[in-house]
Amino acid sequence: MAGVLGGLPQSVLQLVYLVSGILFIQGLRDMTHPRTATRGNLISSGGMFLAVVITVLWFEIISPAVLGGGLLVGGLIGAYLAVTVETTEMPQLVGLFNGFGGGASAVVAGAELIDVLASGGALSIGLTTTASIAGIIGAVTFWGSLVAAGKLHGVVGDSPVSTNVGHALKILFLGAAVAAGLHLVVQPSVIGAVPLSSWVPSYWVLVAAASLLGIILVVPIGGADMPVVIALLNSYSGLAAATTGFVLNNTVLIIAGTLVGASGMILTVIMCDSMNRSLTNVLFGGLGEDASGGDMEDIYEGNISETSPEEVEMLLEVADRVVIVPGYGMAVGQAQHAVAELADLLEENGVDVEFGIHPVAGRMPGHMNALLAEADVSYEKMRELEEVNPTFSQTDVVIVTGANDVVNPQANEADDSPISGMPVLNVWEAGTVIVNKRSLSPGFSGIANPLFAKDNTSMLFGDAKESMQALVNEYKENM
Ligand code: NDP
Repeated sequence: MAGVLGGLPQSVLQLVYLVSGILFIQGLRDMTHPRTATRGNLISSGGMFLAVVITVLWFEIISPAVLGGGLLVGGLIGAYLAVTVETTEMPQLVGLFNGFGGGASAVVAGAELIDVLASGGALSIGLTTTASIAGIIGAVTFWGSLVAAGKLHGVVGDSPVSTNVGHALKILFLGAAVAAGLHLVVQPSVIGAVPLSSWVPSYWVLVAAASLLGIILVVPIGGADMPVVIALLNSYSGLAAATTGFVLNNTVLIIAGTLVGASGMILTVIMCDSMNRSLTNVLFGGLGEDASGGDMEDIYEGNISETSPEEVEMLLEVADRVVIVPGYGMAVGQAQHAVAELADLLEENGVDVEFGIHPVAGRMPGHMNALLAEADVSYEKMRELEEVNPTFSQTDVVIVTGANDVVNPQANEADDSPISGMPVLNVWEAGTVIVNKRSLSPGFSGIANPLFAKDNTSMLFGDAKESMQALVNEYKENM
């Protein structure tokens, strides 16, 4: 029944929902390329704005004044977060957004049950089934995302433990949630003289059990695997929203939820493939447990050669082709502008410069591309792993800045390493490899990197930004 838009036929609402759905799909399409990603974001946001406004006005959920106030407050919080959150903190922000989406789905599904009962209606099997599914997925997503974001932010402990007790608790909480859901679903046929309202609490029992399940599912997973978990929870939040769309019979929620669910799952699979790990291994295994300090000493002892910006500059003076390989440390050091300036200078002097981008370099997909694009590096210069690997043997100098695991030869050489089988950038095939990082500390996987000890590798110790800036200064002085 239409509110302030009263009198308009139902088809108008469906038409606006259709337009929103088209905007979501076009936005997603644009987001597949960095060049059009910003436009894609705007288009999708526009679609969501349209869907929210028409829904609230049509069903007269709140007054236009409250709607305006809500949009203003929400918009200001969003703008504040967008401006202040560091790129390195983006995964936990996405985690929080997923969590709120899942939580909202669980609450809305419960509210719909209460609403139907309050208006004297009966709970149909379709309604209780979809509400139960939305409640379970939504609550798991909410609590799982909070734990994941807390781990990434360092406020929740990070111990990759996977115990039998943990598995038993998972089965217990899942069983309790499913049992409460079944109770809710079967009640319309066994209701008899029992008042309908007495059955609604089983929904909240379901939510409570699913909340505990969400926590116990994510707590044992190592903090290092959180980005994958967050992508998976992103998918769950979409599924919860789509199911809530069925609860409310709301087309646009079904479309938006399905798109988020599918894209989150695709992203999860891409991340797992790029790390050569199965999803089961991420969720129920552990990473970093077999990291060994002893191995590092054996590999590095007497085999590390150190270099300086002056020496690297001399190498660059005579190089024809240089490949720069950025990693997580470039993001931490915010070195992208200095890196881009170095690449420009080299190119001005006739050097062929490209960037080798590993799909999981950094801490989120596209992390390096986004940072380099911010520093105006052209997308044509960013080469993916499959494209750049065959070129290393014709490359004079590779500058690895803040990367570690993505250039670790152990991935190809050892069978028992946490990164065994992960495709890596074969930088050691180049004439000379300069590795810039602050120390010999391991990266995300916690293991030694034999690249540092290779004969053609020299370590340029220091913060990525300071080191790249020092190279720029040296190069400018000498050219
Ligand atoms: P790594 O985490 O392997 O290594 C980063 C290195 O950066 C560290 O060894 C650190 O060494 C160095 N570093 C940190 N701060 C600075 C700084 N200010 N200046 C210079 N160096 C610095 O990063 P990679 O990018 O090579 O690999 C990414 C890892 O993350 C992979 O293992 C991948 O599987 C994982 N991962 C990635 C995801 C993604 O979507 N991108 C998702 C999930 C996991 P030091 O302290 O000595 O300076």
